[in-house]
Amino acid sequence: MGCVTRVRSAFVSTTPKPAKPITLLRVESKEQLSPGMVRIRFSGELAAFEGSAFTDRYVKFLFGSSERPTLRTYTAIEPDVAAGTVAVDFVVHGDQGIAGPWAAAAQPGDTISARGPGGAYAPDPAADWHLFAGDEAAIPAIRQSLADLPADAQGYAVLQVDGPAHQQEVASPAGVELSWLHRSDASHPSLADAVRALPWREGRVHAFVHGEGQTVMRGVRPYLFNERAVPRADVSISAYWKQGRTEEAFREWKAEIAQEEGLQ
Ligand SMILES: Cc1cc2nc3c(=O)[nH]c(=O)nc-3n(C[C@H](O)[C@H](O)[C@H](O)COP(=O)(O)OP(=O)(O)OC[C@H]3O[C@@H](n4cnc5c(N)ncnc54)[C@H](O)[C@@H]3O)c2cc1C
Repeated sequence: MGCVTRVRSAFVSTTPKPAKPITLLRVESKEQLSPGMVRIRFSGELAAFEGSAFTDRYVKFLFGSSERPTLRTYTAIEPDVAAGTVAVDFVVHGDQGIAGPWAAAAQPGDTISARGPGGAYAPDPAADWHLFAGDEAAIPAIRQSLADLPADAQGYAVLQVDGPAHQQEVASPAGVELSWLHRSDASHPSLADAVRALPWREGRVHAFVHGEGQTVMRGVRPYLFNERAVPRADVSISAYWKQGRTEEAFREWKAEIAQEEGLQ
């Protein structure tokens, strides 16, 4: 998913991509990370995760009918192939949707199938500095990416949540300044304005920016590409969800954005 603006091709391949493997996962435990997020630990036969090195590694959960499942995309964290365990941090965003309500109600012993993993990003250790920005949906991928950085890494991580009670444990190297934005606090800037206000550093940046679509694609993206002229290959940026749209409707919006990109 992070590859949306990283991989651009002059032609459209008609060769179908091989289907990713499907793994049956069993809920082992559930932990409340914040008022709006739960971590579910799963067990399963995780051969499909062998060798997956992307820190934004994600799976697509299959809900409903096995012939025409409804897909929902989530970052898969801490996969341990030998132990057969993996975890997912779900935003619990109310009664709407499929995956959020499923996670809120999930109990040990429940099972669900997941296709993948996919992924496209891992922090480049050769970059001079790193920029991470995102909301709750991107925190799992950003947390994993920060954990993958060398101890002397430099940069910024800007994370947006509802309020102080929604902050979570996120460790970053000393040289990566971590800041939290609270939507409930009118004195806090938007994610896009906060990124814009960061003192721009010297050298090559490697950026990872994901979260709500409008914010990421209309707010942060023009700043990085047009104003800072960051090469597209050095930026992983895409919408992870869109306010007011289900994942299906949101995919249509992403296709429109991709088309705009092609026209630029
Ligand atoms: C590569 C990738 C990785 C992702 N990783 C994660 C992850 O680790 N954890 C995670 O929680 N999400 C993650 N997401 C986002 C997740 O796929 C979407 O939030 C998805 O829409 C949730 O599905 P749903 O069935 O709960 O809601 P949907 O049926 O898709 O939507 C129903 C309603 O809920 C709203 N909604 C959806 N998501 C949110 C949200 N996060 N906050 C507030 N309202 C929302 C929609 O706007 C819509 O109005 C990731 C997305 C991508 C593309």
